[in-house]
Amino acid sequence: MIKLENVHKSFGDHEVLKGVDAEIDKGQVVCLIGPSGSGKSTLLRCINGLETYQAGRISIDDETVDVTAPSIHDLRTRVSMVFQRFNLFPHRTAIENVMEGPRYVLKQDKATVREKAERLLTRVGLADKLNAYPASLSGGQQQRVAIARALAMEPEAILFDEPTSALDPEMVGEVLQVMRALAEEHMTMLVVTHEILFAREVADRVLFLDGGRIVEEGAANEVLRQPKNERTQDFLRRVT
Ligand code: ADP
Ligand code: MG
Repeated sequence: MIKLENVHKSFGDHEVLKGVDAEIDKGQVVCLIGPSGSGKSTLLRCINGLETYQAGRISIDDETVDVTAPSIHDLRTRVSMVFQRFNLFPHRTAIENVMEGPRYVLKQDKATVREKAERLLTRVGLADKLNAYPASLSGGQQQRVAIARALAMEPEAILFDEPTSALDPEMVGEVLQVMRALAEEHMTMLVVTHEILFAREVADRVLFLDGGRIVEEGAANEVLRQPKNERTQDFLRRVT
């Protein structure tokens, strides 16, 4: 569903992605791991058309992600993103945050959108927080609102960029639980994470990015339990 072919991305003369190839099939959960600064966030941002890339091709269902093409707006609505810092609108309630995209981007009618937002917030365990403002919610609750907001766009895939790394440890579990449920429903997901246990349990495949290249990839069990590449071995020793 999402395909990257020899993708190169530089900021000025700093080459961050040095020829990345990857494929995420429909319904698959792929975890992207790798050291800080290896280009994980940049890779997600390129897939979602938030960054341009200089060479190679990224495609979603065979449609090229091209930031300069008019179709980019449509592509962006087909792939949602969940960030490390939840990026909720602070002056809007939980339900208003979830309603925003479907209402103003997808232009769905208000009653339908409200009903959908209620259903999604219930699904992430926040039925009693519909009218709460982000500041009154815990980090874990805010991230669950952000996931409900991503789902409200009815995306074909969701990209998660370290969704639990800004959370206090006691809140990590509730967010991973929501993600696990999505995986069980066969949502297509690309997840940047340092949660190796989660990756081991939920991911179909794992990609290890190092220095702008995918240096190892394979079934979660193989890459995480018996990494072949020395850099992967080092990395896993440090994070587990
Ligand atoms: P990761 O998410 O794996 O930690 P990033 O994709 O955030 O890595 O960053 C990869 C490299 O790209 C880093 O060296 C970072 O400083 C650089 N970088 C990221 N975004 C920008 C930007 N907007 N402008 C210039 N350099 C950037
Ligand atoms: Mg990052």
